[in-house]
Amino acid sequence: MIRTVNDEITAVLTINQEWCKGCGICVAFCPREALFINDAGKAEKHSDQCTACTVCELFCPDFALVVVKKGAAVHGGN
Ligand code: SF4
Ligand code: SF4
Repeated sequence: MIRTVNDEITAVLTINQEWCKGCGICVAFCPREALFINDAGKAEKHSDQCTACTVCELFCPDFALVVVKKGAAVHGGN
């Protein structure tokens, strides 16, 4: 589930893996177990588990995680 209003997606988590150092803090704090460190040592998400709650965004020391409102511009995330 992702943040929704009237079943419309209103926000989504984007990950800028170039900025991620693979510390795992976000993985530890995500209440939905939606994040993992991939084979390249970067944070990656299970899209179907992320609710765009912003917890990981608050804890990432490298600003690699950003929850953006649908339609908003974002810096090179994926
Ligand atoms: S907290 Fe930030 S730097 Fe650390 S693994 Fe997660 S995204 Fe990467
Ligand atoms: S936004 Fe919330 S649910 Fe999604 S990955 Fe980050 S901490 Fe987990």
